[in-house]
Amino acid sequence: MLHEKLSPVYDNVLRRNPGETEFHQAVREVLESIGPALGKHPEYAESKIIERICEPERQVIFRVPWEDDRGEVHINRGFRVEFNSALGPYKGGLRFHPSVYLGIVKFLGFEQIFKNSLTGLPIGGGKGGSDFDPKGRSQREIMRFCQSFMTELYRHIGEHTDVPAGDIGVGGREVGYLFGQYKRITNRYESGVITGKGLSFGGAQVRTEATGYGCAFFVDEMLKARGTSFDGKRVVVSGSGNVAIYTIEKIQQLGGTVVACSDSSGYVVDDQGIDLALLKQVKEVERLRVDVYAKRRGGAASFVPGRSVWEVPCEVAMPSATQNEITGRDAELLVRGGCIAVGEGANMPTMPEGVRIFQEAGVAFGPGKAANAGGVATSALEMQQNASRDSWTFEFSERRLAEIMRDIHGRCLATADEYGMPGNYVAGANIDGFKRVADAMLALGLI
Ligand code: GLU
Repeated sequence: MLHEKLSPVYDNVLRRNPGETEFHQAVREVLESIGPALGKHPEYAESKIIERICEPERQVIFRVPWEDDRGEVHINRGFRVEFNSALGPYKGGLRFHPSVYLGIVKFLGFEQIFKNSLTGLPIGGGKGGSDFDPKGRSQREIMRFCQSFMTELYRHIGEHTDVPAGDIGVGGREVGYLFGQYKRITNRYESGVITGKGLSFGGAQVRTEATGYGCAFFVDEMLKARGTSFDGKRVVVSGSGNVAIYTIEKIQQLGGTVVACSDSSGYVVDDQGIDLALLKQVKEVERLRVDVYAKRRGGAASFVPGRSVWEVPCEVAMPSATQNEITGRDAELLVRGGCIAVGEGANMPTMPEGVRIFQEAGVAFGPGKAANAGGVATSALEMQQNASRDSWTFEFSERRLAEIMRDIHGRCLATADEYGMPGNYVAGANIDGFKRVADAMLALGLI
């Protein structure tokens, strides 16, 4: 239910952003949580903070022409939505996927505002990407696309302005090509203009692992708060990209057994626990599908094509693939199968109906804004290292990440308590993330 002051705000968002369903969903989820904060702080409504937060500061849409290996010309669309810079330069990744359109970029940018605020670090919110499909493209095609994309993007970004990074379809290889082109065009070695860089050119230790590790740390905290741990737990992780792989790695280190993971072709179950070295070889090195993992693993694992991984019973679920991957029905199945905790490694992977089902069943539900904030938090640490021309050790960086995740978890719980919704991480994350941005916006005047 929406607070009476928020209904017209939401109606206005629907009217002004027609057809952008993912953006509507993300806005509604935040507005549903922050009613109590408006009651305590009438100055937010008086200054129209919510209306301002829902309107991006700037949106850039551009043409990205490029040539494939056969000489054929392709035209894609590029986006960068600079949503909110009250807390720091716009910060958020780039997604290359055929599903990308303005509504996806705006939902991701909107989420990023509150996620970045929750980290407690000085970063605003933004997001970008393209409807380019990297699947099946050669390395040289990927490079040419990245160069063309940056040839327009470079004029909008900068270490004090807007700092992109990776997301789905954009990993270390793409960040390298993007940074290379930025450096070439500007003639500046401006390391802090993009994060997720390779370790040899200004990248940070633990950035590659950070989203997955951070999500595992967050769920570990939720389990501890309930007097239990990952030790001996059966875990399902969806996806098999960067977030999923390093979620699996940390869960295994914490004593859990990950019995299934997936990609868009289907899922693999492996009751003895995923063989991570094999999964990395198949997905990261050879860039193949998960059925190859099952084939090479032999009798221990099987591949189930075209079905949802959420039919595999587990005690902990870590959705780490993409938005809206857990439906209401999936959530019911998970609850019936004995699931006690959910940590969102992806952005908005659980549909609103699913969130309601988890919360009503008493499942510890860690929303993406809080649970997957470790990636962008470590990006902010990369910016710190770049600004001071320093590089930290793996151990120190991982300790910082663990502290940040513990701190986010603690603040979500404390805020949920303060507003009379104990254990509600969604309310805690939204209110705490929102308040820091709102207070900064008030202090900065009408911007
Ligand atoms: N794409 C990641 C996210 O959803 C990371 C963004 C970043 O490091 O800037 O938070």
